[in-house]
Amino acid sequence: MNNILQTQKINKSYVSPVETLTVFKDLDFNLQKGKSLFLFGPSGCGKSTFLNMITGLDEPDSGKVLINNKSLNISNSSNFLKSDIGIIFQDHYLLNELNIKDNLMLKSEKEEQLDFLLNFLDIKDIKLKYPFQISNGQKQRVCVARSLMNKPQLIIADEPTSYLDKVNSDKVIELLINYTKQFNTSLVVSSHDISYKNLFDFSYTIKDMKLIKC
Ligand code: ADP
Ligand code: MG
Repeated sequence: MNNILQTQKINKSYVSPVETLTVFKDLDFNLQKGKSLFLFGPSGCGKSTFLNMITGLDEPDSGKVLINNKSLNISNSSNFLKSDIGIIFQDHYLLNELNIKDNLMLKSEKEEQLDFLLNFLDIKDIKLKYPFQISNGQKQRVCVARSLMNKPQLIIADEPTSYLDKVNSDKVIELLINYTKQFNTSLVVSSHDISYKNLFDFSYTIKDMKLIKC
């Protein structure tokens, strides 16, 4: 009842003419409201596959994803993305025709919130630049800011610090953790860097086609 995220008997394989790679088999998983989850594992272990299914970017072969006890599927995922979930994508998906300010204002018109986030993440000087004029590390921080613009219930971040140096990585994780605590929301962060593990309520890794505590 109190779960923000639930998966029920999820199966997911990638099929090609040469092989079938099974990434998840009968995966059951719950995350309660107000909790934070750290998903740790080496490149290729299935972190993005999991996150793409729980954000509706990709579908399991069978089984169910529930967000706030409502079933998520390709046809209704855009509603969830607009309202309940803030996503920090590995590919940033910024609109090249809009400057950074306008990219963020698509999510919410609150310019005060926007300025606070850009300032905290040390990217206020790129507010009027276009995505093609900024670095990957700056894009990643814009993506973090975007995910928080509309006060989501659940934030899902796929390796949100992969392009950042230590100082900026720490800032991003601090911002996400503080937001989660302050507004009693939920957080899922994947990373191949285990150093942040202790800041989260739970940490999991992927083994034998399941999520296991680590
Ligand atoms: P991670 O995010 O932990 O690096 P991924 O979820 O991206 O891992 O990938 C898990 C496994 O699935 C890897 O072996 C990867 O090569 C494979 N894989 C991921 N996406 C696809 C795809 N679209 N088609 C085929 N194989 C894929
Ligand atoms: Mg990945």
